[in-house]
Amino acid sequence: MSDKFKAIVLNQSGEKFTREIKNLEKSFFKDGDVLVKVDYSGLNYKDALILKNGGKLVKEYPHIPGIDFSGKVTESKSTDFKPGDDVVLTGCRVGEIYPGGYSQFVKVKNELLIKKPKSISNKNSMILGTAGFTSLLCAFAIKAREELLLGEKVNDVLVTGATGGVGSIAVMVLSKMGYNVTAVTGKKDKEDFLKKLGASKIIDRKDLESESKPLDKGLWDGVVDTVGGKILAKAISHTRPNGIVAACGLASDYKLNTTVMPFIIRGVKLWGIDSVMISKKRREFIWSQVEKLIDFKILEEITKTVNLEELLNIYGDILKGQIAGRILVDLNK
Ligand code: NDP
Repeated sequence: MSDKFKAIVLNQSGEKFTREIKNLEKSFFKDGDVLVKVDYSGLNYKDALILKNGGKLVKEYPHIPGIDFSGKVTESKSTDFKPGDDVVLTGCRVGEIYPGGYSQFVKVKNELLIKKPKSISNKNSMILGTAGFTSLLCAFAIKAREELLLGEKVNDVLVTGATGGVGSIAVMVLSKMGYNVTAVTGKKDKEDFLKKLGASKIIDRKDLESESKPLDKGLWDGVVDTVGGKILAKAISHTRPNGIVAACGLASDYKLNTTVMPFIIRGVKLWGIDSVMISKKRREFIWSQVEKLIDFKILEEITKTVNLEELLNIYGDILKGQIAGRILVDLNK
């Protein structure tokens, strides 16, 4: 590798928090046995929290953020990877307690990496990134109802925060699985965007923000919730018998005020989704399903590509809920 490479470096000294693009040397990396030349990373909600002030997730500074990346192995002490292998990484606390993907090079422990499926490019794997990986985990949680109930079909599903990274890809995946997708959004002008992804019905976010009854009319067999709070409580009370609610996010609120009624009267299942600490076997399974369930032509249209400088100017927009679709970070741009 060349001696120097570019990375975003976060630092904290007392009250002062800084984020800068710096030229680093390989000696920056203290741990890890595989060196990767990073091609792409992505902007996720958690990345923005970390870029803002460490998000109470970063334990040591200086720190390189970026919770996911794709790239090529350039050096490896592991027998599982060799120079030239294309690899992908999401979660595993990379970008939090380990150096992350907003860097032209990163060194990580081999067990955190998986080999990228040949059917998708390094670029597309990060157009998907943690957001897409999470939406696939949510979609498979909902689909599990069919196996748990010995073949009873899922028909109608709800996706909240539908224009966001996780939400928009969840709309696509669930519609590819053959379900009728209702999308909840606060962005009135994004109806065409959501229909193109596969939504059959759009609901204004405000309609789900009122106090919920313990049990309301059963409307959905499955829910992907990215926002938490009142909207999640409402979605649970509208879930049909034996429906599965996959809760992965807190874009609105981390609190949940509900009752036990949907769980004990309707057998509703609240399925928490964590994309960070996932076994290698499950990560490989999820990536193996991408080819079937993702239409990258459509995703490319809702993806904006930025370099590290541009990323530092726009990352705050995701915390304000202002981004529709995905932000791809190109480390060679
Ligand atoms: P985005 O910001 O891209 O999407 C969030 C969407 O939620 C927004 O686009 C908006 O959609 C909606 N939203 C924003 N603010 C509010 C609000 N105040 N009330 C209701 N809806 C709101 O983020 P991501 O898709 O990357 O992440 C979504 C959530 O999922 C985050 O909380 C993130 O931390 C979490 N997450 C969790 C993971 C896990 O492993 N559990 C992994 C990845 C993400 P619209 O305008 O269409 O309503």
